[in-house]
Amino acid sequence: SRSNDEDYDYLFKIVLIGDSGVGKTNILKRFINNEFQLESKPTIGVEFATKTIQSSGKAVKCQIWDTAGQERYRAITHAYYRGAVGAFICYDVTREATFKNTEKWLTELKDHADGNIVIIMIGNKIDAVDQRIVRTDEASNYCEQQQIGFIETSALDGTNIDVAFNKIVANIFNTIG
Ligand code: GDP
Repeated sequence: SRSNDEDYDYLFKIVLIGDSGVGKTNILKRFINNEFQLESKPTIGVEFATKTIQSSGKAVKCQIWDTAGQERYRAITHAYYRGAVGAFICYDVTREATFKNTEKWLTELKDHADGNIVIIMIGNKIDAVDQRIVRTDEASNYCEQQQIGFIETSALDGTNIDVAFNKIVANIFNTIG
């Protein structure tokens, strides 16, 4: 039986990074509990949440880390990246600066995370079609250059949230062989 969250074949630590307000906490909530929060509250306390999914016939327990608001102060600690096999670099498609700053987050990963970490860039809030600033092709070309994955999501309506997690887990399997 795979009903017990403790009954798993693999445990993957996956971190969420990106500027404050891009939707990291809601991406996590949508994936874990299928919930969404309209009000923005700084994440305090909760460090990670887990969910077990099936991939390649294996039960994979995903341990997803949220920054707990540390990104506001650029104070993400080394412990946050320790042991991580996957990272989502998130930006908000309605705020250009958050996309530009992904370069800084990529550098941060290169400096602090394992060299084999699987990276996927998430352009979130695609439900806000009228406010979109960052074009899909612009972001996707950038990710191709950087040789990282790319996906666009909406934590609000749930578009591509499960797809993003399934994709990172599949990519992690590919790198560990
Ligand atoms: P974090 O600081 O990166 O963790 O971002 P939050 O998850 O706290 O979200 C910041 C704000 O953006 C909140 O008001 C959320 O309701 C809103 N938000 C998050 N995801 C989405 C989304 O997919 N679409 C829209 N329209 N708003 C979102």
